[in-house]
Amino acid sequence: MLDDIAIVSNVFPFKTNSYVIEELINWDQPINDPIFNLVFPKKGMLLEHHYRMMKQGMDIFSAKELNNLSNSIRSELNPQPAGQKTLNTPILNGERLNGVQHKYKETVLFFPKNSQTCHAYCTFCFRWPQFVNMKDQKFASKEVDKLIEYLQIHPEVSDLLFTGGDPMVMKARVFEKYINPILEADIPHLRTIRIGSKSLSYWPSRYTTDKDADHMLQIFSTINQKHNLAFMAHFNHYQELQTQSLEEAVTNIRKTGTQIRTQSPILNHINADHRVWKKMWKMQVDLGMIPYYMFLVRDTGAQHYFGVTLLNAWRIFNRAYREVSGIARTVRGPSMSCTPGKILFSGPAKIGNEDVMVLKFIQGRDASWVNKPFFAKYNPNAIWIDDLEPVFEDSFFFEDQEIQFQEEDFATTFPVLDESVNY
Ligand code: SF4
Repeated sequence: MLDDIAIVSNVFPFKTNSYVIEELINWDQPINDPIFNLVFPKKGMLLEHHYRMMKQGMDIFSAKELNNLSNSIRSELNPQPAGQKTLNTPILNGERLNGVQHKYKETVLFFPKNSQTCHAYCTFCFRWPQFVNMKDQKFASKEVDKLIEYLQIHPEVSDLLFTGGDPMVMKARVFEKYINPILEADIPHLRTIRIGSKSLSYWPSRYTTDKDADHMLQIFSTINQKHNLAFMAHFNHYQELQTQSLEEAVTNIRKTGTQIRTQSPILNHINADHRVWKKMWKMQVDLGMIPYYMFLVRDTGAQHYFGVTLLNAWRIFNRAYREVSGIARTVRGPSMSCTPGKILFSGPAKIGNEDVMVLKFIQGRDASWVNKPFFAKYNPNAIWIDDLEPVFEDSFFFEDQEIQFQEEDFATTFPVLDESVNY
């Protein structure tokens, strides 16, 4: 097992911490423990031929050659899924705004330069290129002034998401350097600041006993005086919700007026069981959090290891959803974050004599796509949108427009809007 960890971690980043090791993993049976499987690399996470190449390379290559091999394997694993690097980077004054993504009309993502790591790495994470030494694959920005300028001239943007890595790895005084200018800019259309973070799960003392925990909580309170602060917490298993430290952290964050919403992908070997989701959603509601998303594993990295078929994900979602009260049914899924948008699989159906799969956008590059049902040929093995084919037409309705997005400069996708118009 140690050999496998060494081989696989040459390709996928590996990092854990004392809290995860001591409080979250059940060491009686680590091989079957979901948290162990979340943080420790496994042989199956590499495709068979990649595993063989890396194993042989470790015996014969210099450090530099090994690094080249790792990078070449990484580049075969779709390191920037869903057009992140090319389609989503906005333009300001003729220049690409690196460290910013603007995919959906109302939401801008910001990758502060100081948040390009996490408290521990999740083995399935689609952000894995951020953590390895592939410079041209990283998003990051120190340029909060440019971000503000962009937000000011885009009145359609109501939400700003701080992401990373994990923005909560930043010290409070560093986070303040980003957030204070945004608060001072008084951008009237900016309603919600979101923070996407795994810290509640992997390092809850960030909000309890860390030296600057009170300072960070005070920043949250300040944000809530001007905006609505939504903490997008990432939990993959109910085992992450059972510690005293987590409970205290949730209480402290909620006292600042911050909403906590929860999300996770459905993952083979970790949580592909309706009982896990049912228990997780119930516990989240008991703690005062709002279940938000079940995602499907993205088409990157070790998707072959963690991926669950659309049909199985839907069955698991449905069974868990049926067994929780309406208060937990705020959750949406199973959903794919893919190039055209967030696509929800609503389930299989029969139309005439045809078995079909019913899908709809819950977010789209084009807002007019949202909530519009569309149909694919029944495919019980599909794990991603690319595995699906249209059933009644030659192409899905959004595909032609997608080609257009690829051909146009992104600035023309989100033009500067006329502020006199009430959006
Ligand atoms: S904490 Fe989030 S960003 Fe970091 S490795 Fe895990 S899933 Fe990825």
